[in-house]
Amino acid sequence: MTAGADTFAGRLLSWYDRQGRTFVFRGSRDPYRVWLSEIMLQQTRTESVTPYYERFLARFPDVAALAGADEEEVLRCWQGLGYYSRARNLHRAAQQIVREHGGVFPATAAELRTLPGIGPYTAAAVASIAFGEPVPAMDGNLIRVFARLTDEGEDASRPDVLERLTAAARGLMPPGRPGDFNQALMDLGATVCTPGTPDCAACPVREYCLARLSGEPEARPVLPRKTPPKHVPLNVLMIFSGSRVYMKQRREALLKGMYVFVLSGSAPGQALNALGLPDAECEYRGEAKHVFTHRIWEMRLWAVHIPEIPPALEKDFYTLSQLDSLPIPTAMRAARAYVQKELTE
Ligand code: SF4
Repeated sequence: MTAGADTFAGRLLSWYDRQGRTFVFRGSRDPYRVWLSEIMLQQTRTESVTPYYERFLARFPDVAALAGADEEEVLRCWQGLGYYSRARNLHRAAQQIVREHGGVFPATAAELRTLPGIGPYTAAAVASIAFGEPVPAMDGNLIRVFARLTDEGEDASRPDVLERLTAAARGLMPPGRPGDFNQALMDLGATVCTPGTPDCAACPVREYCLARLSGEPEARPVLPRKTPPKHVPLNVLMIFSGSRVYMKQRREALLKGMYVFVLSGSAPGQALNALGLPDAECEYRGEAKHVFTHRIWEMRLWAVHIPEIPPALEKDFYTLSQLDSLPIPTAMRAARAYVQKELTE
């Protein structure tokens, strides 16, 4: 069944058919591809995703290939996209699909939510786009659009308010094209009903919109004030010995599994002591900054040259060509560039 032309869904979908955005990851109903694109799009701008998506698919063309890979290789393929827990969860979810579902994707939003890294939004997006399940995919775009359509005046981050907005979306969803309905709303939110001042004159569903009638659509949604990110001062020590440099795999939750230089919140000398290098000297090499969602690393870079590598650290020193095969986060870009220069001169 398709939506009548003169209904909310009919108008939205005919706008989508004419003006929907085209992306390399659109148009496929293969759940693996839909899932991958949705995970990549979670915290990354749409335009930046395409080359990563194509590279990842070329390397891991299906869920079995991803499940069979080792984590380091998956992280390396993700390098530059950030939010690496997404890559680790993709990998774990692929293994779970192979182990528990015989390599066949679960087909409902409820089952998809049992997989690592798949929350209500991603589950609904994959279930609606790949399997045609009529569930609204409430991302920031849909929340904004429905808060405006219904002129919702309560805090949209509250679970009961989100449930109200989801119910409104569900009530308008046509059974025939739920995936397109969700994608049309995402496009509407990204291009017309944008944060700030929406372009209501260009909106295909303006006649249904209560916030437009109230004259202040930009006042919706109501959201709590964001807490500003925390500034974290860090010393980054690049320890060289001959043609090699020290790197260590992180165990902490942030950037877990990625390789970094020595990162220390205390003085450089203390970090060197902790590594058993009390006599090594540090030379200041500049500053760098990396912005995460909730924190900003304010980094001071230091070069350290040691004549001999203590046996306990031997396995953690790498040549320049070995660095190319390690997953190194973008947060290390400035230090990595310095190391590249130092080791090629
Ligand atoms: Fe958004 Fe304006 Fe359309 Fe309402 S009329 S949904 S505020 S763009």
